Amino acid sequence: MGDEGFEEFMKNFDVKAYYRRLESSDYYKERIVPKITSIINNHYNREIEKRVIFKENNHFVSPEFTTIKIKQKAIDKGIYISKRVCELAGSDYEIYMYLLGNNENKDKIVDDIYIGIDQVVYPDYCEISPYGKIKSSMDIRKNLEKRVIGHTHSHGAIETFHSMTDVKNLEKFIESFGNLKHIDLWDDEEGKEQKLYDVYYTPSLVFNKYLWGTDKLPFAGVALNYKDFGNKREKIFLINNNVKIEVIESDPLTEEEMKSIDELILDRVNLGGRGNLRQVYEKHMQKQDLSPEKKLTLDSKPEDHDKKENREDNSQ
Ligand SMILES: [Zn+2]
Repeated sequence: MGDEGFEEFMKNFDVKAYYRRLESSDYYKERIVPKITSIINNHYNREIEKRVIFKENNHFVSPEFTTIKIKQKAIDKGIYISKRVCELAGSDYEIYMYLLGNNENKDKIVDDIYIGIDQVVYPDYCEISPYGKIKSSMDIRKNLEKRVIGHTHSHGAIETFHSMTDVKNLEKFIESFGNLKHIDLWDDEEGKEQKLYDVYYTPSLVFNKYLWGTDKLPFAGVALNYKDFGNKREKIFLINNNVKIEVIESDPLTEEEMKSIDELILDRVNLGGRGNLRQVYEKHMQKQDLSPEKKLTLDSKPEDHDKKENREDNSQ
């Protein structure tokens, strides 16, 4: 059929009748509708990915998914806590913490770090109890009048990164504490109309004790959780590990504050297999009282300490 023939054909073709016939047919319902739906869903799922997956020069990604804003004091506190739990325990341990911000904090600036109540720590693992999670949440909301913005923990003497366990923990954490962000799927198109879609996100920092006394920053990541457009997949979880930390200047941590942090660590932390940290610490200090010249050194496990003493005996 040439162009003229086609025009002639179209002149006599009843488009409306054709679509009516198509709409009422099983073929339309079973084949055409799902096809169009799938094309639309795929289109929007690509649009969502463009706005959540961090790639170089991707200006569609929300800054919340690529940058963590935090006050200098909160960083100092996280590093101090990571170092102190090891010193107070006499050997290297992880510690579980929360990133906090003000209630009316649209920019989600982290201004404080909170030591989780009733946690059990190990050299390579830390966990808060269900009771501790509720107790901490209530304390943060009611007494501090702040809210949880994100997750953080220390790796003790191990390097900072997101381990497989951390990824699993963040997947659970985001369901309780994720921040909601509406992303606009139409923001690269003309006009001011919006098509908003819900994405939940949680910033995460990983500290260790070696950050103390250096200019180094903790490891930073942002966990994301959203549904497929069209809800084919109920939950998509991913972590951007290429995240920038934007430090906001603030007052330094005071001696007074450091002292009260020590008390919180002693109260809230339980050492796996060794019991409450305050009890372990006090027992250790009592032992040290017997040899007063060693009172200030608390940098090795009690058993290492015994070994050291033996070594000294042998060398004499
Ligand atoms: Zn970890």
